[in-house]
Amino acid sequence: MDAAIIIVGDEILAGHVQDANAHHIAQRLAHHGHRLRRVAIVSDEPDEIASELRAQLDGPASIVFVCGGLGPTHDDRTMEGVALALGTELVPLAPLADKIEQLVQQTLSAGFSEAAFGNEGLRKMALAPPGARVLATSIGVIPAMTVEDQRARIVILPGPPREMRAVFTESVEPEFLEGTGETIAREEITHVFPESTLAAVMTELQARYPEVVIGSYPRYEDTLIRIAGPAHIARAAADDIHKFIEELTESDEGRKLLDFLDRRRAERG
Ligand code: ATP
Repeated sequence: MDAAIIIVGDEILAGHVQDANAHHIAQRLAHHGHRLRRVAIVSDEPDEIASELRAQLDGPASIVFVCGGLGPTHDDRTMEGVALALGTELVPLAPLADKIEQLVQQTLSAGFSEAAFGNEGLRKMALAPPGARVLATSIGVIPAMTVEDQRARIVILPGPPREMRAVFTESVEPEFLEGTGETIAREEITHVFPESTLAAVMTELQARYPEVVIGSYPRYEDTLIRIAGPAHIARAAADDIHKFIEELTESDEGRKLLDFLDRRRAERG
């Protein structure tokens, strides 16, 4: 299944908070064999959220995660953005709205004013597009929800990473991700040649094996090549790369290259 993530938050765009939620969701999607096609970070503005969500609904993703901006304050406007994208109004979502109303009534009967607990903000947290459903979680006060559009399922998640992860593990993974993805095998190869030395062979192998994703990741001491995809194809591509590296290592030019690199490293200390 193809997926997209929309992270909502002025605080992330401003550099005040580093995004952790997209990273977690990306790891879990990969774990279950689903393909993440896009991560977008947008401001708290409903128009911006709606425009990104529309773009994702028109794209290849069949599940779109929208994360953050569900709280009671003025800057939590994600639901407005979702409703705008779907061309709907927001309606009180039962039974969540009843639960919040009970809470509100308890505070009023205890003699508190409407403002004491910010009742307006609390009631706002029960608003959702028609047809939305709350996802169960054992922690947190911000409800995660899902709503199905003809084009894709939308999963709306709280911003605080602890709450997001709890609902993701407890509800999202078992209901939408487990057992529906492809089994993705990973082959990893390291080498000490310049990354560019293997560029041409990797281009050729990527064209020969389009079913796998071949990546090259330079590190301090060596370069890691990772191949991900169906097991037998990843294995075949890895065998070809091993063979290329072996032949290069044993060739005159390969030996000269390694000597040259050793000398340069020694000179640098
Ligand atoms: P709240 O009721 O706490 O406002 P919310 O669902 O509206 O919940 P946000 O207002 O978007 O969430 O974010 C609350 C806090 O969670 C932020 O101040 C930030 O510290 C953290 N947070 C939100 N999104 C992310 C993210 N993508 N990565 C890391 N931290 C985040």
